[in-house]
Amino acid sequence: MNAPVGDDVYDEDPTIHELEARGAELLGQEAALFCVTGSMANLLGIWCDVPRGAEVCCDAQAHIVRAELGAHAVLHGVTTRTWSAPRGVADLDLIASFVALPASHLVGTAAIELENTHNFGGGSIQPLETVAAVSAFAAEHDIALHLDGARMANACVATGHKLADYGSLATTVTLCLSKGLGAPIGTLLASSKENIARARVQRKRLGGGWRQAGILAAAGIYALEHHIDRLADDHRAAALLADEVARRAPQAIATPPETNIVVIDTGKRSSADVIAAAARHDVRISGVGPHTVRAVTHLGVSAEECVAAGQVIGEVLADGSAGEENQGVSA
Ligand SMILES: *Cc1c(COP(=O)(O)O)cnc(C)c1O
Repeated sequence: MNAPVGDDVYDEDPTIHELEARGAELLGQEAALFCVTGSMANLLGIWCDVPRGAEVCCDAQAHIVRAELGAHAVLHGVTTRTWSAPRGVADLDLIASFVALPASHLVGTAAIELENTHNFGGGSIQPLETVAAVSAFAAEHDIALHLDGARMANACVATGHKLADYGSLATTVTLCLSKGLGAPIGTLLASSKENIARARVQRKRLGGGWRQAGILAAAGIYALEHHIDRLADDHRAAALLADEVARRAPQAIATPPETNIVVIDTGKRSSADVIAAAARHDVRISGVGPHTVRAVTHLGVSAEECVAAGQVIGEVLADGSAGEENQGVSA
Protein backbone atom coordinates (compact mmCIF):
# COMPACT_ATOMS: atom_id res chain seq x y z
CA MET A 1 0.00 0.00 0.00
CA ASN A 2 3.00 2.26 0.51
CA ALA A 3 4.49 1.57 -2.92
CA PRO A 4 5.60 4.62 -4.92
CA VAL A 5 3.13 5.09 -7.77
CA GLY A 6 2.71 7.18 -10.90
CA ASP A 7 0.42 7.22 -13.90
CA ASP A 8 1.07 4.05 -15.88
CA VAL A 9 -0.76 5.36 -18.95
CA TYR A 10 2.08 7.93 -19.10
CA ASP A 11 4.52 5.11 -18.30
CA GLU A 12 5.42 6.85 -15.03
CA ASP A 13 4.78 4.24 -12.34
CA PRO A 14 8.13 3.24 -10.80
CA THR A 15 6.76 0.15 -9.07
CA ILE A 16 5.24 -1.14 -12.29
CA HIS A 17 8.57 -0.46 -14.01
CA GLU A 18 10.31 -2.53 -11.37
CA LEU A 19 7.85 -5.41 -11.70
CA GLU A 20 8.08 -5.38 -15.48
CA ALA A 21 11.89 -5.32 -15.44
CA ARG A 22 12.05 -8.21 -12.99
CA GLY A 23 9.41 -10.13 -14.91
CA ALA A 24 11.27 -9.74 -18.20
CA GLU A 25 14.48 -10.99 -16.65
CA LEU A 26 12.82 -13.90 -14.86
CA LEU A 27 11.06 -14.97 -18.05
CA GLY A 28 14.16 -14.67 -20.23
CA GLN A 29 12.74 -11.94 -22.46
CA GLU A 30 13.65 -8.32 -23.29
CA ALA A 31 10.55 -6.64 -21.90
CA ALA A 32 7.34 -7.30 -20.00
CA LEU A 33 3.92 -5.73 -19.60
CA PHE A 34 1.80 -5.82 -16.44
CA CYS A 35 -1.71 -6.89 -17.48
CA VAL A 36 -4.97 -7.06 -15.57
CA THR A 37 -5.54 -10.80 -16.09
CA GLY A 38 -4.06 -13.87 -17.70
CA SER A 39 -6.79 -13.76 -20.31
CA MET A 40 -5.74 -10.23 -21.28
CA ALA A 41 -2.07 -11.24 -21.40
CA ASN A 42 -2.91 -14.21 -23.66
CA LEU A 43 -5.07 -11.97 -25.83
CA LEU A 44 -2.24 -9.45 -26.27
CA GLY A 45 0.44 -12.08 -26.77
CA ILE A 46 -1.49 -13.89 -29.48
CA TRP A 47 -2.41 -10.56 -31.05
CA CYS A 48 1.34 -9.85 -31.34
CA ASP A 49 1.91 -13.26 -32.96
CA VAL A 50 -1.13 -13.81 -35.18
CA PRO A 51 -2.56 -11.41 -37.79
CA ARG A 52 -6.32 -11.19 -38.39
CA GLY A 53 -7.58 -14.11 -40.45
CA ALA A 54 -4.71 -16.40 -39.48
CA GLU A 55 -4.81 -19.24 -36.96
CA VAL A 56 -3.19 -20.39 -33.79
CA CYS A 57 -2.85 -24.17 -33.29
CA CYS A 58 -3.21 -25.46 -29.75
CA ASP A 59 -4.53 -28.25 -27.55
CA ALA A 60 -8.31 -28.76 -27.59
CA GLN A 61 -8.42 -28.21 -23.82
CA ALA A 62 -6.35 -25.01 -23.91
CA HIS A 63 -7.45 -22.13 -21.71
CA ILE A 64 -7.41 -19.85 -24.78
CA VAL A 65 -10.07 -21.98 -26.47
CA ARG A 66 -12.14 -23.14 -23.50
CA ALA A 67 -12.01 -20.36 -20.97
CA GLU A 68 -11.53 -17.00 -22.66
CA LEU A 69 -15.02 -16.72 -24.14
CA GLY A 70 -13.87 -16.62 -27.73
CA ALA A 71 -11.93 -13.39 -27.16
CA HIS A 72 -9.28 -14.13 -29.77
CA ALA A 73 -11.96 -14.60 -32.41
CA VAL A 74 -14.33 -11.89 -31.24
CA LEU A 75 -11.78 -9.14 -30.67
CA HIS A 76 -8.87 -10.03 -32.94
CA GLY A 77 -10.27 -12.14 -35.78
CA VAL A 78 -8.03 -15.11 -34.98
CA THR A 79 -9.16 -18.72 -35.52
CA THR A 80 -7.90 -21.83 -33.80
CA ARG A 81 -7.28 -25.41 -34.86
CA THR A 82 -6.85 -27.89 -32.06
CA TRP A 83 -5.13 -31.20 -31.42
CA SER A 84 -5.99 -33.62 -28.60
CA ALA A 85 -3.14 -34.84 -26.46
CA PRO A 86 -3.46 -36.86 -23.23
CA ARG A 87 -3.46 -34.42 -20.27
CA GLY A 88 -2.62 -31.67 -22.74
CA VAL A 89 1.06 -32.64 -22.83
CA ALA A 90 2.63 -31.45 -26.07
CA ASP A 91 3.86 -33.92 -28.69
CA LEU A 92 6.01 -32.53 -31.49
CA ASP A 93 4.95 -35.08 -34.14
CA LEU A 94 1.29 -34.35 -33.46
CA ILE A 95 1.86 -30.59 -33.51
CA ALA A 96 3.93 -30.74 -36.68
CA SER A 97 1.08 -32.56 -38.42
CA PHE A 98 -1.23 -29.64 -37.62
CA VAL A 99 0.70 -26.77 -39.08
CA ALA A 100 -0.87 -25.69 -42.36
CA LEU A 101 1.12 -25.91 -45.55
CA PRO A 102 1.61 -22.52 -47.15
CA ALA A 103 -1.24 -22.36 -49.67
CA SER A 104 -3.53 -19.60 -50.82
CA HIS A 105 -6.68 -21.64 -50.09
CA LEU A 106 -5.79 -22.65 -46.49
CA VAL A 107 -5.81 -20.59 -43.31
CA GLY A 108 -2.21 -19.78 -42.48
CA THR A 109 -0.80 -21.01 -39.18
CA ALA A 110 0.85 -18.03 -37.51
CA ALA A 111 1.42 -19.45 -34.02
CA ILE A 112 1.56 -22.57 -31.91
CA GLU A 113 0.29 -22.20 -28.37
CA LEU A 114 1.27 -24.33 -25.37
CA GLU A 115 0.09 -24.16 -21.77
CA ASN A 116 2.39 -24.85 -18.83
CA THR A 117 1.19 -26.26 -16.53
CA HIS A 118 -1.88 -27.38 -18.43
CA ASN A 119 -4.97 -26.30 -16.53
CA PHE A 120 -7.64 -28.70 -17.87
CA GLY A 121 -4.93 -31.34 -18.30
CA GLY A 122 -4.81 -31.40 -14.49
CA GLY A 123 -1.76 -29.23 -13.81
CA SER A 124 0.38 -31.34 -16.13
CA ILE A 125 3.91 -30.20 -16.87
CA GLN A 126 5.26 -29.63 -20.38
CA PRO A 127 8.70 -31.26 -20.48
CA LEU A 128 11.35 -28.63 -21.24
CA GLU A 129 12.84 -30.76 -24.05
CA THR A 130 9.44 -30.90 -25.76
CA VAL A 131 8.93 -27.14 -25.51
CA ALA A 132 12.46 -26.67 -26.89
CA ALA A 133 11.69 -29.00 -29.80
CA VAL A 134 8.41 -27.21 -30.55
CA SER A 135 10.20 -23.86 -30.34
CA ALA A 136 12.85 -25.01 -32.83
CA PHE A 137 10.16 -26.41 -35.12
CA ALA A 138 8.23 -23.12 -34.95
CA ALA A 139 11.35 -21.07 -35.73
CA GLU A 140 12.15 -23.33 -38.68
CA HIS A 141 8.67 -22.70 -40.09
CA ASP A 142 8.62 -19.00 -39.24
CA ILE A 143 5.74 -19.50 -36.80
CA ALA A 144 5.49 -17.86 -33.37
CA LEU A 145 5.27 -19.81 -30.11
CA HIS A 146 2.96 -18.42 -27.44
CA LEU A 147 3.42 -19.95 -24.02
CA ASP A 148 0.49 -19.58 -21.63
CA GLY A 149 2.52 -19.75 -18.45
CA ALA A 150 -0.32 -18.92 -16.05
CA ARG A 151 1.05 -21.63 -13.73
CA MET A 152 4.56 -21.91 -15.10
CA ALA A 153 6.09 -21.28 -11.68
CA ASN A 154 4.44 -24.54 -10.55
CA ALA A 155 6.10 -26.38 -13.43
CA CYS A 156 9.47 -24.87 -12.52
CA VAL A 157 9.25 -25.69 -8.83
CA ALA A 158 8.25 -29.27 -9.69
CA THR A 159 11.06 -29.79 -12.22
CA GLY A 160 13.84 -27.53 -10.97
CA HIS A 161 13.96 -25.61 -14.24
CA LYS A 162 14.08 -21.81 -14.23
CA LEU A 163 11.23 -19.71 -15.58
CA ALA A 164 13.67 -18.35 -18.17
CA ASP A 165 14.48 -21.88 -19.37
CA TYR A 166 10.90 -22.10 -20.65
CA GLY A 167 10.26 -18.42 -21.22
CA SER A 168 13.23 -17.82 -23.50
CA LEU A 169 11.93 -20.53 -25.88
CA ALA A 170 8.73 -18.58 -26.57
CA THR A 171 7.95 -15.61 -28.78
CA THR A 172 5.45 -14.39 -26.20
CA VAL A 173 5.00 -15.80 -22.69
CA THR A 174 2.73 -15.10 -19.73
CA LEU A 175 2.97 -15.65 -15.97
CA CYS A 176 0.03 -15.15 -13.59
CA LEU A 177 0.89 -13.36 -10.36
CA SER A 178 -2.52 -14.27 -9.01
CA LYS A 179 -3.33 -18.00 -8.95
CA GLY A 180 -0.82 -19.92 -6.85
CA LEU A 181 1.52 -16.96 -6.49
CA GLY A 182 -1.12 -15.28 -4.36
CA ALA A 183 -1.15 -11.69 -5.62
CA PRO A 184 -4.65 -10.19 -5.68
CA ILE A 185 -4.51 -9.43 -9.39
CA GLY A 186 -2.21 -9.29 -12.39
CA THR A 187 -0.34 -11.22 -15.07
CA LEU A 188 2.90 -10.50 -16.87
CA LEU A 189 3.26 -10.76 -20.63
CA ALA A 190 6.91 -10.93 -21.76
CA SER A 191 8.40 -10.75 -25.22
CA SER A 192 10.69 -8.60 -27.39
CA LYS A 193 10.77 -4.83 -26.75
CA GLU A 194 9.00 -4.30 -30.05
CA ASN A 195 6.15 -6.71 -29.24
CA ILE A 196 5.69 -5.26 -25.75
CA ALA A 197 5.50 -1.73 -27.16
CA ARG A 198 2.77 -2.91 -29.55
CA ALA A 199 0.97 -4.81 -26.80
CA ARG A 200 1.01 -1.68 -24.60
CA VAL A 201 -0.89 0.23 -27.28
CA GLN A 202 -3.41 -2.57 -27.77
CA ARG A 203 -3.87 -2.92 -24.00
CA LYS A 204 -4.88 0.76 -23.86
CA ARG A 205 -7.35 0.20 -26.72
CA LEU A 206 -8.95 -2.57 -24.69
CA GLY A 207 -9.33 -0.23 -21.70
CA GLY A 208 -6.46 -1.92 -19.89
CA GLY A 209 -4.18 1.10 -19.51
CA TRP A 210 -4.19 1.55 -15.79
CA ARG A 211 -3.26 4.46 -13.62
CA GLN A 212 -1.65 4.22 -10.16
CA ALA A 213 -1.47 0.44 -10.30
CA GLY A 214 1.91 0.36 -8.54
CA ILE A 215 0.18 -0.82 -5.37
CA LEU A 216 -0.86 -3.92 -7.32
CA ALA A 217 2.57 -4.28 -8.91
CA ALA A 218 4.09 -4.19 -5.41
CA ALA A 219 1.96 -7.22 -4.52
CA GLY A 220 3.24 -8.88 -7.69
CA ILE A 221 6.87 -8.18 -6.73
CA TYR A 222 6.18 -9.61 -3.28
CA ALA A 223 4.69 -12.72 -4.91
CA LEU A 224 7.76 -13.20 -7.12
CA GLU A 225 10.08 -12.81 -4.15
CA HIS A 226 8.23 -14.86 -1.56
CA HIS A 227 5.71 -17.19 -3.16
CA ILE A 228 7.54 -19.18 -5.82
CA ASP A 229 9.60 -21.63 -3.76
CA ARG A 230 6.70 -22.30 -1.40
CA LEU A 231 4.67 -23.74 -4.31
CA ALA A 232 6.36 -27.03 -3.34
CA ASP A 233 4.09 -26.98 -0.26
CA ASP A 234 1.04 -26.78 -2.52
CA HIS A 235 2.31 -29.73 -4.54
CA ARG A 236 2.81 -31.79 -1.38
CA ALA A 237 -0.66 -30.80 -0.17
CA ALA A 238 -2.16 -31.87 -3.51
CA ALA A 239 -0.45 -35.27 -3.21
CA LEU A 240 -1.79 -35.66 0.35
CA LEU A 241 -5.30 -34.71 -0.77
CA ALA A 242 -5.15 -37.19 -3.67
CA ASP A 243 -3.91 -39.96 -1.33
CA GLU A 244 -6.82 -39.42 1.04
CA VAL A 245 -9.30 -39.60 -1.84
CA ALA A 246 -7.61 -42.68 -3.34
CA ARG A 247 -7.57 -44.48 0.01
CA ARG A 248 -11.38 -44.31 0.12
CA ALA A 249 -12.20 -44.31 -3.60
CA PRO A 250 -9.21 -45.75 -5.48
CA GLN A 251 -10.75 -45.43 -8.95
CA ALA A 252 -11.28 -41.68 -8.47
CA ILE A 253 -7.64 -40.74 -8.92
CA ALA A 254 -6.62 -41.87 -12.40
CA THR A 255 -3.37 -39.91 -12.35
CA PRO A 256 -1.59 -38.64 -9.26
CA PRO A 257 -1.19 -34.85 -9.31
CA GLU A 258 2.00 -33.49 -10.87
CA THR A 259 1.60 -30.05 -9.32
CA ASN A 260 -1.24 -28.32 -7.43
CA ILE A 261 -4.30 -29.61 -9.31
CA VAL A 262 -6.01 -32.86 -8.32
CA VAL A 263 -8.36 -34.28 -10.96
CA ILE A 264 -11.03 -36.53 -9.47
CA ASP A 265 -13.21 -38.96 -11.41
CA THR A 266 -16.66 -39.07 -9.83
CA GLY A 267 -17.64 -42.38 -11.48
CA LYS A 268 -21.41 -42.71 -11.87
CA ARG A 269 -22.08 -39.67 -9.69
CA SER A 270 -22.51 -36.37 -11.47
CA SER A 271 -19.98 -33.62 -10.81
CA ALA A 272 -22.77 -31.35 -9.53
CA ASP A 273 -23.85 -33.96 -6.98
CA VAL A 274 -20.31 -34.46 -5.66
CA ILE A 275 -19.62 -30.71 -5.57
CA ALA A 276 -22.81 -30.15 -3.57
CA ALA A 277 -22.04 -33.00 -1.16
CA ALA A 278 -18.49 -31.72 -0.55
CA ALA A 279 -19.78 -28.15 -0.10
CA ARG A 280 -22.01 -29.33 2.73
CA HIS A 281 -18.77 -30.17 4.54
CA ASP A 282 -17.19 -26.81 3.66
CA VAL A 283 -14.98 -28.28 0.93
CA ARG A 284 -15.05 -26.28 -2.27
CA ILE A 285 -14.19 -28.08 -5.50
CA SER A 286 -15.18 -27.30 -9.07
CA GLY A 287 -16.45 -29.25 -12.04
CA VAL A 288 -14.35 -29.67 -15.17
CA GLY A 289 -16.56 -32.28 -16.87
CA PRO A 290 -19.86 -34.14 -16.28
CA HIS A 291 -18.08 -36.73 -14.12
CA THR A 292 -14.85 -34.94 -13.32
CA VAL A 293 -14.15 -32.47 -10.55
CA ARG A 294 -10.93 -30.87 -9.44
CA ALA A 295 -9.37 -29.57 -6.28
CA VAL A 296 -6.66 -26.91 -6.44
CA THR A 297 -4.25 -26.31 -3.58
CA HIS A 298 -2.77 -22.88 -2.89
CA LEU A 299 -1.30 -20.68 -0.20
CA GLY A 300 -4.72 -20.05 1.31
CA VAL A 301 -5.11 -23.66 2.51
CA SER A 302 -2.83 -25.63 4.81
CA ALA A 303 -1.65 -29.22 4.34
CA GLU A 304 -3.92 -30.26 7.24
CA GLU A 305 -6.92 -28.66 5.55
CA CYS A 306 -6.05 -30.45 2.31
CA VAL A 307 -5.88 -33.80 4.11
CA ALA A 308 -9.29 -33.10 5.68
CA ALA A 309 -10.68 -32.08 2.29
CA GLY A 310 -9.36 -35.28 0.72
CA GLN A 311 -11.08 -37.28 3.47
CA VAL A 312 -14.39 -35.55 2.81
CA ILE A 313 -14.19 -36.03 -0.96
CA GLY A 314 -13.12 -39.65 -0.53
CA GLU A 315 -16.02 -40.35 1.85
CA VAL A 316 -18.48 -38.70 -0.51
CA LEU A 317 -17.28 -40.85 -3.40
CA ALA A 318 -17.01 -44.09 -1.41
CA ASP A 319 -20.48 -43.81 0.07
CA GLY A 320 -23.27 -43.11 -2.38
CA SER A 321 -25.41 -41.74 0.43
CA ALA A 322 -22.78 -39.35 1.77
CA GLY A 323 -24.46 -36.70 -0.30
CA GLU A 324 -27.16 -36.60 2.40
CA GLU A 325 -26.96 -33.90 5.03
CA ASN A 326 -26.23 -36.25 7.93
CA GLN A 327 -23.46 -38.31 6.35
CA GLY A 328 -19.73 -38.04 5.86
CA VAL A 329 -17.02 -36.60 8.04
CA SER A 330 -16.57 -33.10 9.28
CA ALA A 331 -13.73 -30.98 7.97
C1 LIG B 1 -6.14 -18.85 -14.98
C2 LIG B 1 -5.55 -19.07 -16.29
C3 LIG B 1 -5.41 -18.03 -17.21
C4 LIG B 1 -5.87 -16.61 -16.97
O1 LIG B 1 -6.92 -16.43 -16.18
P1 LIG B 1 -7.47 -14.99 -15.73
O2 LIG B 1 -8.59 -15.40 -14.85
O3 LIG B 1 -7.88 -14.28 -16.94
O4 LIG B 1 -6.36 -14.29 -15.00
C5 LIG B 1 -4.81 -18.30 -18.41
N1 LIG B 1 -4.37 -19.52 -18.69
C6 LIG B 1 -4.45 -20.54 -17.82
C7 LIG B 1 -3.89 -21.86 -18.20
C8 LIG B 1 -5.05 -20.36 -16.60
O5 LIG B 1 -5.15 -21.38 -15.75
